[in-house]
Amino acid sequence: MKPAKFDYVAPTTVEAAVEALVASNGEGKLLAGGQSLLPLLNFRMARPSVLIDLNRIEGLSYIKDRGDSIAIGALTRHRYLEHSPLIASKLPVLSDAMRHVAHLAIRNRGTIGGSLSHADPAAELPMLTVFYDATISIRGPNGLRTVAAEEFFVDALTSCLEPDEIVVEIEFPVLDHDRWAFEEVARRFGDFALASIALSVRRTGAKLEDARLAVMGVANTPLRLKEAERELVALPLDEQAPELFSEIIASKVSPNDDVHASGEYRTHLLKELSRRALRTALTPAEQET
Ligand SMILES: Cc1cc2nc3c(=O)[nH]c(=O)nc-3n(C[C@H](O)[C@H](O)[C@H](O)COP(=O)(O)OP(=O)(O)OC[C@H]3O[C@@H](n4cnc5c(N)ncnc54)[C@H](O)[C@@H]3O)c2cc1C
Repeated sequence: MKPAKFDYVAPTTVEAAVEALVASNGEGKLLAGGQSLLPLLNFRMARPSVLIDLNRIEGLSYIKDRGDSIAIGALTRHRYLEHSPLIASKLPVLSDAMRHVAHLAIRNRGTIGGSLSHADPAAELPMLTVFYDATISIRGPNGLRTVAAEEFFVDALTSCLEPDEIVVEIEFPVLDHDRWAFEEVARRFGDFALASIALSVRRTGAKLEDARLAVMGVANTPLRLKEAERELVALPLDEQAPELFSEIIASKVSPNDDVHASGEYRTHLLKELSRRALRTALTPAEQET
Protein backbone atom coordinates (compact mmCIF):
# COMPACT_ATOMS: atom_id res chain seq x y z
CA MET A 1 0.00 0.00 0.00
CA LYS A 2 0.93 3.63 -0.24
CA PRO A 3 0.65 6.30 2.45
CA ALA A 4 -2.18 8.81 2.48
CA LYS A 5 -1.15 12.28 1.29
CA PHE A 6 0.95 14.34 3.71
CA ASP A 7 3.02 17.51 3.73
CA TYR A 8 6.75 17.25 4.44
CA VAL A 9 9.05 19.63 6.30
CA ALA A 10 12.70 19.19 7.26
CA PRO A 11 13.61 21.68 9.98
CA THR A 12 17.28 22.20 10.86
CA THR A 13 16.82 22.94 14.57
CA VAL A 14 14.96 21.24 17.43
CA GLU A 15 13.14 24.53 18.11
CA ALA A 16 11.84 24.65 14.52
CA ALA A 17 10.76 21.01 14.76
CA VAL A 18 8.80 21.76 17.95
CA GLU A 19 7.19 24.78 16.20
CA ALA A 20 6.18 22.55 13.28
CA LEU A 21 4.65 20.03 15.72
CA VAL A 22 2.72 22.80 17.50
CA ALA A 23 1.51 24.21 14.15
CA SER A 24 0.23 20.77 13.13
CA ASN A 25 -2.25 20.72 16.05
CA GLY A 26 -1.51 17.12 16.94
CA GLU A 27 -1.73 15.96 13.30
CA GLY A 28 2.03 15.95 12.66
CA LYS A 29 4.45 13.03 13.00
CA LEU A 30 8.20 13.12 13.53
CA LEU A 31 10.30 11.07 11.14
CA ALA A 32 13.58 9.66 12.53
CA GLY A 33 14.78 6.34 11.03
CA GLY A 34 11.33 5.63 9.60
CA GLN A 35 11.63 1.90 10.38
CA SER A 36 8.47 1.79 12.48
CA LEU A 37 6.68 4.84 11.12
CA LEU A 38 6.85 4.07 7.39
CA PRO A 39 5.11 0.68 7.66
CA LEU A 40 2.36 2.41 9.67
CA LEU A 41 2.04 5.06 6.94
CA ASN A 42 2.01 2.45 4.18
CA PHE A 43 -0.76 0.50 5.90
CA ARG A 44 -2.54 3.82 6.57
CA MET A 45 -2.60 3.02 10.27
CA ALA A 46 -1.08 6.50 10.69
CA ARG A 47 -2.31 9.41 8.56
CA PRO A 48 -0.36 12.48 9.65
CA SER A 49 -1.09 15.79 7.90
CA VAL A 50 2.63 16.57 7.96
CA LEU A 51 5.86 14.60 8.36
CA ILE A 52 8.50 16.51 10.29
CA ASP A 53 11.84 15.02 9.31
CA LEU A 54 14.44 15.20 12.12
CA ASN A 55 17.32 14.02 9.94
CA ARG A 56 18.53 17.50 8.93
CA ILE A 57 18.99 18.60 12.55
CA GLU A 58 22.68 18.61 13.39
CA GLY A 59 23.91 17.65 16.85
CA LEU A 60 21.26 15.06 17.72
CA SER A 61 23.49 12.07 16.93
CA TYR A 62 26.23 11.48 19.50
CA ILE A 63 27.55 9.24 22.25
CA LYS A 64 29.23 11.25 25.02
CA ASP A 65 31.19 10.06 28.02
CA ARG A 66 30.16 12.13 31.05
CA GLY A 67 32.16 10.08 33.54
CA ASP A 68 29.45 8.49 35.66
CA SER A 69 27.03 8.42 32.75
CA ILE A 70 26.82 8.08 28.98
CA ALA A 71 24.66 10.54 27.07
CA ILE A 72 23.20 9.50 23.73
CA GLY A 73 21.56 11.86 21.24
CA ALA A 74 18.06 10.87 20.12
CA LEU A 75 19.03 10.55 16.45
CA THR A 76 21.88 8.10 17.13
CA ARG A 77 21.41 5.04 14.91
CA HIS A 78 21.22 1.54 16.38
CA ARG A 79 24.32 0.61 14.39
CA TYR A 80 26.48 3.21 16.14
CA LEU A 81 25.39 1.87 19.51
CA GLU A 82 26.12 -1.68 18.36
CA HIS A 83 29.68 -0.83 17.29
CA SER A 84 30.68 1.84 19.81
CA PRO A 85 33.71 0.82 21.95
CA LEU A 86 32.54 3.34 24.58
CA ILE A 87 29.12 1.67 24.82
CA ALA A 88 30.80 -1.75 24.93
CA SER A 89 32.99 -0.73 27.86
CA LYS A 90 30.55 1.45 29.85
CA LEU A 91 27.13 -0.02 29.00
CA PRO A 92 28.01 -3.65 28.13
CA VAL A 93 24.48 -5.01 28.55
CA LEU A 94 23.13 -2.45 26.08
CA SER A 95 25.98 -3.21 23.70
CA ASP A 96 25.24 -6.93 23.81
CA ALA A 97 21.50 -6.39 23.36
CA MET A 98 21.96 -4.41 20.13
CA ARG A 99 22.69 -7.52 18.07
CA HIS A 100 19.13 -8.67 18.83
CA VAL A 101 17.57 -5.49 17.40
CA ALA A 102 15.97 -6.34 14.05
CA HIS A 103 18.28 -6.75 11.03
CA LEU A 104 21.33 -4.88 9.77
CA ALA A 105 19.37 -2.75 7.28
CA ILE A 106 16.98 -1.65 10.03
CA ARG A 107 19.81 -1.01 12.50
CA ASN A 108 21.46 1.22 9.88
CA ARG A 109 18.47 3.60 9.91
CA GLY A 110 16.64 3.08 13.22
CA THR A 111 17.36 5.54 16.03
CA ILE A 112 17.25 5.32 19.80
CA GLY A 113 14.82 8.26 20.01
CA GLY A 114 12.49 6.57 17.52
CA SER A 115 12.64 3.26 19.34
CA LEU A 116 11.83 4.81 22.72
CA SER A 117 9.03 6.97 21.30
CA HIS A 118 7.49 4.00 19.50
CA ALA A 119 7.51 2.18 22.90
CA ASP A 120 7.16 -1.36 21.62
CA PRO A 121 6.93 -3.62 24.72
CA ALA A 122 9.25 -6.16 23.05
CA ALA A 123 11.94 -3.70 21.91
CA GLU A 124 15.41 -3.85 23.42
CA LEU A 125 16.26 -0.16 23.84
CA PRO A 126 13.19 0.73 25.93
CA MET A 127 14.06 -2.23 28.17
CA LEU A 128 17.68 -1.11 28.48
CA THR A 129 16.67 2.43 29.49
CA VAL A 130 14.58 0.93 32.30
CA PHE A 131 17.39 -1.47 33.20
CA TYR A 132 19.99 1.31 33.51
CA ASP A 133 17.52 3.71 35.15
CA ALA A 134 18.16 6.18 32.31
CA THR A 135 16.83 9.72 32.15
CA ILE A 136 15.08 10.87 28.98
CA SER A 137 15.31 14.55 27.98
CA ILE A 138 12.33 15.90 26.09
CA ARG A 139 11.93 19.24 24.28
CA GLY A 140 8.50 20.83 23.92
CA PRO A 141 6.99 24.29 23.51
CA ASN A 142 7.58 24.98 27.24
CA GLY A 143 11.26 24.04 27.14
CA LEU A 144 13.16 20.99 28.36
CA ARG A 145 11.91 18.37 30.81
CA THR A 146 13.46 15.11 31.97
CA VAL A 147 11.64 11.87 32.72
CA ALA A 148 12.88 8.67 34.34
CA ALA A 149 12.64 5.74 31.91
CA GLU A 150 10.24 3.85 34.18
CA GLU A 151 7.79 6.76 33.94
CA PHE A 152 8.33 7.31 30.21
CA PHE A 153 6.71 4.00 29.18
CA VAL A 154 3.02 4.14 30.02
CA ASP A 155 1.54 1.20 28.09
CA ALA A 156 2.16 -0.88 24.97
CA LEU A 157 3.12 1.55 22.17
CA THR A 158 2.34 4.47 24.49
CA SER A 159 4.85 6.82 26.09
CA CYS A 160 4.34 9.91 28.22
CA LEU A 161 5.29 12.15 25.26
CA GLU A 162 2.84 14.94 24.43
CA PRO A 163 2.02 15.34 20.71
CA ASP A 164 4.24 18.45 20.50
CA GLU A 165 7.30 16.98 22.26
CA ILE A 166 10.57 15.55 20.94
CA VAL A 167 13.00 13.20 22.68
CA VAL A 168 16.43 14.84 22.42
CA GLU A 169 18.77 12.87 24.69
CA ILE A 170 18.97 9.76 26.82
CA GLU A 171 21.42 9.66 29.74
CA PHE A 172 22.47 6.23 31.06
CA PRO A 173 24.15 6.00 34.49
CA VAL A 174 27.16 3.64 34.39
CA LEU A 175 26.82 0.65 36.71
CA ASP A 176 29.72 -0.24 38.99
CA HIS A 177 29.30 -3.97 38.21
CA ASP A 178 31.64 -6.66 36.94
CA ARG A 179 29.43 -9.45 35.59
CA TRP A 180 26.42 -9.29 33.30
CA ALA A 181 24.21 -11.17 30.87
CA PHE A 182 21.56 -10.45 28.27
CA GLU A 183 19.34 -13.33 27.16
CA GLU A 184 16.50 -13.28 24.67
CA VAL A 185 14.22 -15.60 22.72
CA ALA A 186 12.58 -14.53 19.46
CA ARG A 187 10.75 -16.76 17.01
CA ARG A 188 13.28 -15.94 14.26
CA PHE A 189 16.56 -14.08 14.56
CA GLY A 190 15.82 -10.33 14.27
CA ASP A 191 12.18 -10.63 15.30
CA PHE A 192 10.86 -8.80 18.32
CA ALA A 193 11.48 -10.75 21.53
CA LEU A 194 9.02 -13.19 23.05
CA ALA A 195 10.87 -12.85 26.35
CA SER A 196 14.11 -11.31 27.48
CA ILE A 197 16.15 -10.64 30.60
CA ALA A 198 19.00 -8.24 31.34
CA LEU A 199 21.11 -8.89 34.43
CA SER A 200 24.16 -7.22 35.91
CA VAL A 201 25.87 -7.92 39.24
CA ARG A 202 28.79 -6.87 41.40
CA ARG A 203 30.36 -9.88 43.05
CA THR A 204 32.94 -10.14 45.79
CA GLY A 205 34.13 -13.69 46.44
CA ALA A 206 31.12 -15.91 47.04
CA LYS A 207 28.74 -13.02 47.59
CA LEU A 208 26.76 -10.65 45.40
CA GLU A 209 26.98 -7.05 46.57
CA ASP A 210 24.52 -5.60 44.10
CA ALA A 211 22.25 -6.72 41.26
CA ARG A 212 20.30 -5.01 38.49
CA LEU A 213 17.53 -6.74 36.64
CA ALA A 214 14.97 -6.00 33.91
CA VAL A 215 12.68 -8.16 31.80
CA MET A 216 10.51 -7.62 28.74
CA GLY A 217 7.96 -9.43 26.63
CA VAL A 218 6.00 -10.30 29.76
CA ALA A 219 4.05 -7.05 30.29
CA ASN A 220 2.87 -4.00 28.35
CA THR A 221 6.04 -2.14 29.28
CA PRO A 222 9.57 -3.28 30.18
CA LEU A 223 9.90 -4.02 33.89
CA ARG A 224 12.72 -3.45 36.34
CA LEU A 225 12.30 -6.07 39.08
CA LYS A 226 13.68 -4.31 42.16
CA GLU A 227 12.35 -6.81 44.70
CA ALA A 228 13.90 -9.66 42.71
CA GLU A 229 17.21 -7.75 42.67
CA ARG A 230 17.20 -7.73 46.49
CA GLU A 231 16.19 -11.40 46.66
CA LEU A 232 18.98 -12.33 44.26
CA VAL A 233 21.59 -10.52 46.37
CA ALA A 234 20.42 -12.53 49.41
CA LEU A 235 20.60 -15.86 47.55
CA PRO A 236 23.43 -18.30 48.43
CA LEU A 237 25.56 -18.68 45.29
CA ASP A 238 25.57 -22.47 45.11
CA GLU A 239 24.43 -24.84 42.35
CA GLN A 240 20.78 -24.27 43.33
CA ALA A 241 21.03 -20.53 42.67
CA PRO A 242 19.96 -20.49 38.96
CA GLU A 243 16.87 -22.60 39.69
CA LEU A 244 15.89 -20.52 42.72
CA PHE A 245 16.52 -17.35 40.75
CA SER A 246 14.22 -18.53 37.95
CA GLU A 247 11.49 -19.16 40.54
CA ILE A 248 11.97 -15.66 41.95
CA ILE A 249 11.61 -14.15 38.48
CA ALA A 250 8.53 -16.23 37.65
CA SER A 251 6.88 -15.08 40.87
CA LYS A 252 7.21 -11.42 39.81
CA VAL A 253 5.53 -11.58 36.38
CA SER A 254 2.13 -12.64 35.04
CA PRO A 255 2.15 -12.26 31.26
CA ASN A 256 -1.14 -12.38 29.35
CA ASP A 257 -1.90 -14.68 26.44
CA ASP A 258 -1.63 -12.96 23.05
CA VAL A 259 -1.40 -13.88 19.35
CA HIS A 260 2.34 -14.55 19.62
CA ALA A 261 2.43 -16.79 22.71
CA SER A 262 0.50 -17.83 25.79
CA GLY A 263 1.37 -16.24 29.10
CA GLU A 264 2.37 -19.66 30.40
CA TYR A 265 4.85 -20.11 27.54
CA ARG A 266 6.35 -16.65 28.08
CA THR A 267 6.83 -17.46 31.79
CA HIS A 268 8.46 -20.76 30.84
CA LEU A 269 10.83 -18.92 28.47
CA LEU A 270 11.66 -16.30 31.05
CA LYS A 271 12.50 -18.95 33.65
CA GLU A 272 14.93 -20.64 31.26
CA LEU A 273 16.45 -17.29 30.27
CA SER A 274 16.84 -16.41 33.97
CA ARG A 275 18.76 -19.62 34.66
CA ARG A 276 21.04 -18.97 31.70
CA ALA A 277 21.53 -15.31 32.64
CA LEU A 278 22.57 -16.11 36.20
CA ARG A 279 24.90 -18.91 35.09
CA THR A 280 26.55 -16.51 32.64
CA ALA A 281 26.71 -13.69 35.16
CA LEU A 282 28.35 -15.94 37.76
CA THR A 283 30.85 -17.54 35.41
CA PRO A 284 34.24 -15.88 35.57
CA ALA A 285 34.82 -14.91 31.96
CA GLU A 286 36.19 -12.24 29.68
CA GLN A 287 33.32 -10.00 30.70
CA GLU A 288 35.18 -7.60 33.00
CA THR A 289 34.38 -4.03 32.01
C1 LIG B 1 11.03 -5.92 10.39
C2 LIG B 1 11.36 -5.10 11.61
C3 LIG B 1 11.87 -5.74 12.72
C4 LIG B 1 12.18 -5.01 13.85
N1 LIG B 1 12.68 -5.67 14.93
C5 LIG B 1 13.01 -4.96 16.04
C6 LIG B 1 13.56 -5.61 17.17
O1 LIG B 1 13.77 -6.82 17.19
N2 LIG B 1 13.85 -4.85 18.26
C7 LIG B 1 13.63 -3.49 18.27
O2 LIG B 1 13.92 -2.85 19.28
N3 LIG B 1 13.14 -2.85 17.21
C8 LIG B 1 12.82 -3.55 16.09
N4 LIG B 1 12.31 -2.88 15.02
C9 LIG B 1 12.05 -1.44 15.13
C10 LIG B 1 13.31 -0.61 14.85
O3 LIG B 1 14.19 -0.72 15.93
C11 LIG B 1 12.93 0.86 14.66
O4 LIG B 1 14.03 1.47 14.13
C12 LIG B 1 12.54 1.65 15.88
O5 LIG B 1 11.50 1.09 16.63
C13 LIG B 1 12.02 3.02 15.50
O6 LIG B 1 13.08 3.85 15.28
P1 LIG B 1 13.08 4.84 14.07
O7 LIG B 1 14.21 5.77 14.29
O8 LIG B 1 13.05 4.07 12.80
O9 LIG B 1 11.72 5.67 14.29
P2 LIG B 1 10.59 6.10 13.29
O10 LIG B 1 10.01 4.92 12.60
O11 LIG B 1 11.06 7.23 12.44
O12 LIG B 1 9.54 6.69 14.34
C14 LIG B 1 8.85 5.84 15.23
C15 LIG B 1 7.89 6.69 16.08
O13 LIG B 1 8.64 7.51 16.97
C16 LIG B 1 8.38 8.91 16.72
N5 LIG B 1 9.67 9.56 16.90
C17 LIG B 1 10.82 9.30 16.22
N6 LIG B 1 11.84 10.01 16.75
C18 LIG B 1 11.32 10.73 17.77
C19 LIG B 1 11.87 11.64 18.70
N7 LIG B 1 13.18 11.95 18.73
N8 LIG B 1 11.04 12.20 19.62
C20 LIG B 1 9.72 11.89 19.64
N9 LIG B 1 9.14 11.04 18.78
C21 LIG B 1 9.94 10.45 17.86
C22 LIG B 1 7.81 8.96 15.30
O14 LIG B 1 6.98 10.08 15.11
C23 LIG B 1 7.04 7.66 15.25
O15 LIG B 1 5.80 7.80 15.91
C24 LIG B 1 11.98 -3.58 13.87
C25 LIG B 1 11.47 -2.93 12.74
C26 LIG B 1 11.16 -3.68 11.61
C27 LIG B 1 10.62 -2.96 10.41
